[in-house]
Amino acid sequence: MTARLIGMGKIKTYRNQKIRDSARGKECLMKLPGCCGGTESTIWSHYRGEAGGKGMSLKADDLCGAYACTHCDAIYDGQKMIPNGIERVDVWLAWHNAHIQSIVILHADGVLK
Ligand SMILES: [Zn+2]
Repeated sequence: MTARLIGMGKIKTYRNQKIRDSARGKECLMKLPGCCGGTESTIWSHYRGEAGGKGMSLKADDLCGAYACTHCDAIYDGQKMIPNGIERVDVWLAWHNAHIQSIVILHADGVLK
């Protein structure tokens, strides 16, 4: 499988089951209004832009993800309406902050070395 990165041609998409599995038991880090809270529905939310290697029917690299509950991920993905009082840019900022926190946690937990 290949990923299309802007200006970088085709490169191999990075997949790591341990990263995806690490979402089990983690708290959502996006915390948008209406967030599920807790750890029950937390998933590894993949980046939705092309810079993360996302293609027509291809998810972004597993490195390009964040711990998010299904509610927050659905808002980020556009499947759910953006809650009143915030805008699309707030959703993207929340995802990017969650991504940075998630990468730090992955390293601290020894998933990324
Ligand atoms: Zn959430």
